[in-house]
Amino acid sequence: MSLDYTSLLLAVGFSAACLSLTLFGMWLTARSERFLLTWATSLVFVVGDIFVYDAYIDMPGRLLGIGALALLLIGFSAMLGAAYQFRTGGSPLPRALLGCVSLVVALPPMALGYDGLGFMFENLFAALLLLATAFEYWRGRDEAPALTIGITALYSATATSFALCAMVLAWDGKLILGHAPSNWAEELSLIVVIASMTGIGALSLALNQGRLARYHRRDALTDPLTGLLNRRALFDMHGNVPVGAFTAVVVFDLDNFKAINDEFGHAAGDEVLKVFAGELAGSLRQTDVAARMGGEEFALVLKRTLPETVEETAERIRTAFATRLIETETGSLNCTVSAGFAFGSKEGLSFDKVLSAADKALYDAKRGGRNRVTASPFRRAG
Ligand code: GH3
Ligand code: MG
Ligand code: MG
Repeated sequence: MSLDYTSLLLAVGFSAACLSLTLFGMWLTARSERFLLTWATSLVFVVGDIFVYDAYIDMPGRLLGIGALALLLIGFSAMLGAAYQFRTGGSPLPRALLGCVSLVVALPPMALGYDGLGFMFENLFAALLLLATAFEYWRGRDEAPALTIGITALYSATATSFALCAMVLAWDGKLILGHAPSNWAEELSLIVVIASMTGIGALSLALNQGRLARYHRRDALTDPLTGLLNRRALFDMHGNVPVGAFTAVVVFDLDNFKAINDEFGHAAGDEVLKVFAGELAGSLRQTDVAARMGGEEFALVLKRTLPETVEETAERIRTAFATRLIETETGSLNCTVSAGFAFGSKEGLSFDKVLSAADKALYDAKRGGRNRVTASPFRRAG
C-alpha cells in the first residue's frame, strides 16, 4: 500500500491534534504546569496550518496561502515560547512574539502573489524557530540529560528538514509557483515530522513527569513554614547510617514558646520559627544538615567535627537568636533557645540513640534554666 502526500499530511494533522488534546488534558490535572497549555495551543495553530495547507494544495489561492503560512509560523513561535516557559518558568510571550516577527518578512511576498518566495521564507523561518526551540531544551539539559538531548536532536532534525525545503525552493529560484511546492524535500520533511512529533511528545511528557515527581519528593521532604528539611528527610538521610565519633547531633527547642503564641498570637509564633530557621540555615557548612523536627524543635547534624566546635556553633546560634529583636504584626519580641548535643561513637551508634542522647542533654539545659547549650555526658564515648 502506498500513501500519497495528502494522506500523510492529514495523518500529521490528526496526530498533532491528538497530542494537543493530550497536553491540554495533562494541563487540566496539573494547572501549575502552564507550559503544557502554551504547547497545546501552539499545536492548535499547527493543526490549523495543516488543514488550511491541505485545502491550498487542492485550490491554490492567496488567502489560503497566507492562512497556512501565518498559522505555521505562529504555531512554531508559540512552541518556542512553550519550550522557554518549560525551561525557565518565565512567560512564553516575549519569545513567541519575537518569533511572530518572521511574519513581517514572510507574509508580504505571499500576499503579493510571490508564493515561491513566500514558501521559501516560511520554511526558512520554520527551521529557525525549531532550531531556537531545540536550543532551549539544550540549555536545560542539566535537568535530565538523556531526555533533553533526545528532544534537542528531534527538534534539530525537524528544523533541518524545513531548511532543506527552503534550500530546494531557493535552488529552483522560482518566485511564483502557482501551486504548493512539490519536491523530494517536502516529502522527506513530512516523514521527519511524523517520526519526530511522536518522539518529542513521548520524551517531553516523560521529562515533565520526572520533574513533577522531583517536585513532589521535595515537597514531601520540606517543612513548608521554614523551608528547612523536615523530620522525614532527616531520617531518610541519617536514620540508617551509624553515627561515627566525629559526627554530632544538636537538638534545639525554643524556650517558653507557648507563652509567645499566647501573648502575641500564632502568626507571630510562626514568624519566630522562621527567624530561628534563618539563624540555623545561615550558620551551616556545606556538610551540615538542619531540619525542623516538628513544633518548635529543630535538629542539626554536623559531620567531621569536635565537641568544642559543636559547642561553639550551638552557642553562636543561641546568642545570635537571643539578642535578636523579632518584629511581628502584634509587636516586637525576644525569644531564646535551649540546645543539647551528643556525638556518635567510634563503632557507630544508631541515629535514634544519638538523637535521644541529645534530647536528654536538651532536657538538662531546660532544667538548668533554659537559654543554654548542654553536652550529653556520653559525648566522649568512643
Ligand atoms: P519549653 O521552654 O519548656 O520548651 O516550653 P514551651 O512553651 O516552648 O514548650 P511547649 O511544648 O509547652 O509548647 C510548644 C508550643 O509550640 C505549643 C504549640 O502550640 C506551639 N507550636 C507547635 N507548632 C507550632 C507552629 O507551627 N506554629 C506556632 N505558632 N506554634 C507552634
Ligand atoms: Mg518542644
Ligand atoms: Mg519549647
